[in-house]
Formats: sequence, structure tokens, C-alpha cells
Amino acid sequence: MLEKYDRMIFLQNMPCIVRFIPSFVKRYNIWDKHITETSECPFCKKICTTQNILFSRFKYIYNDFPFMSNQITVFNEEHKDTFSRNDLIDMVNIVTTLSGCKSGGLQIKGSGASLPNHLHFSISDEEYPIVHLNEQKLMQTEKYSISRFIGLPHLAIKLTGCLDCIVDVSIKISEIIKSKNMSYNIIFTKKGEIIIIPRIKENSKLLNRKVGISLVGGIYPCYVNCNFKNKSDNAVIRDMLSHWRNIS
Ligand SMILES: [Zn+2]
Repeated sequence: MLEKYDRMIFLQNMPCIVRFIPSFVKRYNIWDKHITETSECPFCKKICTTQNILFSRFKYIYNDFPFMSNQITVFNEEHKDTFSRNDLIDMVNIVTTLSGCKSGGLQIKGSGASLPNHLHFSISDEEYPIVHLNEQKLMQTEKYSISRFIGLPHLAIKLTGCLDCIVDVSIKISEIIKSKNMSYNIIFTKKGEIIIIPRIKENSKLLNRKVGISLVGGIYPCYVNCNFKNKSDNAVIRDMLSHWRNIS
């Protein structure tokens, strides 16, 4: 179980979680440094030794530095940095069918992935706070709908409906985002929805490091120092807003 210190604060209607993650101190000091120095892909290294298999072609390991409860990292057996249509379908199906799993989160190159060269995503028994926000419907067809979350300073698009349709639309949206030299995060929900969050960059000047899916999903990860404990709710919200503006 994740050792954590959570505080709930509200940004309009969104219950943001302010979370102190003790293991991130180690991650910041050891892992991030190590990963820039080594050329060997840690996931490829784990493929032979990991017996944990999902959907016959994905392996999974418990995350050493989880930012969510019971966070598991799922990775493709193939070393590649892009996902196929089938990969996306499988990611949705893993989250909807796996017992106890309530969310999935995908980070790609430019959106906070620690190992962007080997596609991987995280699943957890916890939901991202963003899913509880109110929505505004942008489009509705017979088979699917597109909406955006309201009450956020950045764009987050939710696709609901027929799996084949929302996967096709997600791929089109991701191609448009890439053509604008932007990146994105994808959140998968237990209901089989796909949430796409476009981003302009992955680094926040305030932290001087990558900001990943946790922040755009509504979790403010605190680590290295725990000054946030003394910060007022308004000060934390201001911090989150400046990170969001920086990356989205
Ligand atoms: Zn690899």
C-alpha cells in the first residue's frame, strides 16, 4: 500500500489531492540520475525475468515509486515509443476488465514519461480526481460523444461510447496534437472512457523537473521537500495553477 500523506483541496468543483510521496525523494536523488546515465532499457531488461503477463503480450511490475495507490506499470513486450490501435484497445480493456483496477494513465514522450522510449502505462485501484469534474458536451453521434471537463485551467477531452469509435477518434486527435508539436496524456476510466489532455511541455520551471500525468489528472505530487504541509490551500492552488499554465 502506498505510504502517503493526502490533503484534499478544491479547485472549483475538482477535489484535488495534495500528496506527499516519500519514495519520490529516492526517485529524485537516485533513479532520475541513474536513468540519464544508463543506455540499457530497464523494461527490456525486465521482460525475460517478469512472469506477470496481461493480455498475452503485456508484462507488468509494481511501480517502485508510485504516486497512486497500488500502482502497477504495464509495458509492451516490444521496445517501441508509439502505440498501435490494438495497443489502445487493449489499454482500455485492461482497465475495464481487470478486477480492482479503476484507472489507467499513459504518458508518452514529452508528457512526463520517465522512460519515453519504451511505451508503458500505469494502472491503479484509485481514480484520478479529474473524472469527478463536471462536463460540457461538445459533440454527440449515435455511437459516441465528445465532451470537455469544465473547471480546469487546461483542456481535457473525454470520449465516451463505442470502443472502436472512440479509439479511432483518439488516434485522430493524437495525430492533430502531434502535428502541432505538442504532447499529451491519456487517462483511461473503469467505464471504458478515454480522456485526452494536450500539453505543450513536460517541464515545470517551478520544480525544475518533469511534471507528469498526476498533475493534469488532479494530484499534486509533493516530494523532495514537504513545505506544502505548511502551505495554505490557496497557496497550493496557486502552485498547481502555475504548473498547469506552464505545461498546458
Ligand atoms: Zn525497452
